[in-house]
Amino acid sequence: MSDQQALSQIYLDANATTPVLPKAAKAALSTMETMFGNPSSSHISGLQAKQVMDETRSKAGEVLGAGNGQVIFTSGATEGIQTGILSALCAARKKMQPGKNYSILYGATEHKAVPESLKHWNQVLEINATIKAIPVDEKGTLDYDFIAKEVPNALMICTMAVNNETGVYQDLNALEMVIRANNADVYWLVDCVQALGKRGLELAKTSIDYAPFSGHKLYAPKGIGFVYIRQGAPFTPFIAGGGQEGGLRSGTENLPGLAALNVIFDELQGNGDGVFASEGKLQLFRSQLALALKNAFPTVLFNHDFANSVPTTLNFAIPGFSSKEIMDLFDAANIRVSSGSACSSKVTRSFVLDAMGLPAWQSESAIRMSFGPAVTQQQIDQACDRIHHCAQALGHSCLLNATGSIDDKSQLQGLVQFKMGGSCTWLYADPLTKTAVIIDPLPELSKRLLTILQCQQLQLIAAIDTHGHADHQSGRVALAQQHLVQQHADHLGWPTEVTRVELNNQQFEAISIGDKYLLRVATPGHTDDSITIVLCEKEQLQLGELVPNYVFCGDLVLMGSLGRTNFSSSNTKQMYQSLKMLAQLVGQQSLLCPSHDYHNEFVTNFKAEASRNSLLNDVLTSEVSVEQFVKRKQDLDKNINDDIGEEIMCGAFTSACNKKQLQEYNAPELKAKLQANSQAKLIDIREPHEYALNHSQEFDVNVPLTRLTDFICQQQHDKSQELILVCRSGSRSQVAAQALSRLGFEHVGHLKGGYALSHTN
Ligand code: PLP
Repeated sequence: MSDQQALSQIYLDANATTPVLPKAAKAALSTMETMFGNPSSSHISGLQAKQVMDETRSKAGEVLGAGNGQVIFTSGATEGIQTGILSALCAARKKMQPGKNYSILYGATEHKAVPESLKHWNQVLEINATIKAIPVDEKGTLDYDFIAKEVPNALMICTMAVNNETGVYQDLNALEMVIRANNADVYWLVDCVQALGKRGLELAKTSIDYAPFSGHKLYAPKGIGFVYIRQGAPFTPFIAGGGQEGGLRSGTENLPGLAALNVIFDELQGNGDGVFASEGKLQLFRSQLALALKNAFPTVLFNHDFANSVPTTLNFAIPGFSSKEIMDLFDAANIRVSSGSACSSKVTRSFVLDAMGLPAWQSESAIRMSFGPAVTQQQIDQACDRIHHCAQALGHSCLLNATGSIDDKSQLQGLVQFKMGGSCTWLYADPLTKTAVIIDPLPELSKRLLTILQCQQLQLIAAIDTHGHADHQSGRVALAQQHLVQQHADHLGWPTEVTRVELNNQQFEAISIGDKYLLRVATPGHTDDSITIVLCEKEQLQLGELVPNYVFCGDLVLMGSLGRTNFSSSNTKQMYQSLKMLAQLVGQQSLLCPSHDYHNEFVTNFKAEASRNSLLNDVLTSEVSVEQFVKRKQDLDKNINDDIGEEIMCGAFTSACNKKQLQEYNAPELKAKLQANSQAKLIDIREPHEYALNHSQEFDVNVPLTRLTDFICQQQHDKSQELILVCRSGSRSQVAAQALSRLGFEHVGHLKGGYALSHTN
């Protein structure tokens, strides 16, 4: 597949929102163009509008089994949630007895709209109750014992009918028995947003006081929702004003939204065009998707039990892949899914799966696939086909063990950088001799590295750590067990049988790989066993000249910092000597590849570092003595913040990363520039599997982020070449462009917003 436009979008993110059903959109449009009256007006236009509203309310009541309860139209579920919480807490406040401690309960997997609103109103109304999360078990079911124990003291309890991330539903009857057996009067809100159209609701037959709903989760437009209020439940208007909705919710009603909802209710009641599939059919769709996932990714794990989940949601994780990687992959195949919590794209793990006690990796790798009842067999078939292509593309990248000859795969050549949090692993492959070395292997990457070696048919000749890492275990052992059984090596993995080479009357131990040498240079300081590994040209070395390609300097120099020297095995004086010696040996411009990259800067050199790291600069220019260095370094190391995430920081930052001003293009600007016969090189920096799935001809070079350092090495001779970087969303292209510009590339730009904003599918 090479043409972006050829792939239509498969939208599998219905739990975030749905498209508007064409018939519903038509109904909305008609109320905007012809039946646009204000339902509060008493003329004919107003009366017609009111009729649409009344009819929709009556259908809503039937769909919900609202009985004598009320249905109030809102802007969406978040407003419905406020309405319920405000009403309940205002009433509860009046009943509170002085000196008594109260609680408010909510399910630990609730949508954030619920706990955040509870916190807000608890504070604003000065109720000051203790807000407690009700735990869930590994299946996502609420802990009834906890409820039984806590609910007698509760002012309000909020639960959800169906979870938005997993589709897990609660047994509302069983829940009601526990709640009411222990507190007959507690106000009960049930978030029913994800239940509409997927679970039968007979609200008036329950003691649920408040139930919010949202139109845009079921094919109506955004901006319309409704909330059910049980007959007799206390009520306080959340919005006061002109007295609409019988004074319960002021503000002119959203008539287009109501007209669209009206159509949706017809479908739900079986009076429409029959576009909603039966539950049985939806279950078949889920089985088909699950099977396609299992066939494509045999190790896939589903993060919830299908037995207590609605059939329209699949939440899964693929071992060895982060959710970001799978999102990028699926997006390239034009399948829209979501990761973690869809409502907050920055969150990297799922609090819902955390609450269910799933392992951290599963929560970090979670992908949610969700569809609505209007999904078609054709869409499911296409999605399954594309899932298969996604796996093939990962095979092409050698990230998945796929069958097929090496010719089907993009051949690895040169340096690849792998990252896990702030730590880096480097793999250098020589395609001619089919050999590879791995530097600073992280244990989490062992499986991926082994897969790549096998798929690329590369023989591993060494797996070396630049020092004994304090912050993580080495992944060296797992690699050595499979590939280096016969090899004798020291504790860092440096082989005992090596070549010796001479340079400027100095002897170095060297490993030969293709036309390169790896030289071992002792650079103690960060730890006493720290070494630097210099990958250099064999031919020049034999002529007495060192031409380094890459300098794997461990934690001696980090980007924006120097490795910390406050470990028991550190020696600050030795670091001073190591820095001076190494800079002299490899020069200002050689690419330094540290074992950490906390700020997504990829690679650096002494020149770039000295320009922003005054301490390093002073060492290199001999402005400081060893003693002064030790003093300043000690002061710096005191600033190391070990509390950043779960990582032990290996360096104290001496300077903020100075962001360079980048040339940013939007899609029309970029198009115009290219049409003007620009000499600019356009570089697609997505991973090869994304590129393979979906790229347009105009993007002639694929330089994945993992190969950026290799590209920098190739392109170093011409830093004046104009480069324009492109990726899916504009974020990877931005960090890569920053890295290039920091290293002195003069004309670097990127496509702001990436492909996502340059194509409409
Ligand atoms: N509750 C649940 C379970 C949801 O999934 C959502 C939306 O993601 C909301 C509440 C908020 O709905 P709205 O977007 O209508 O405010």
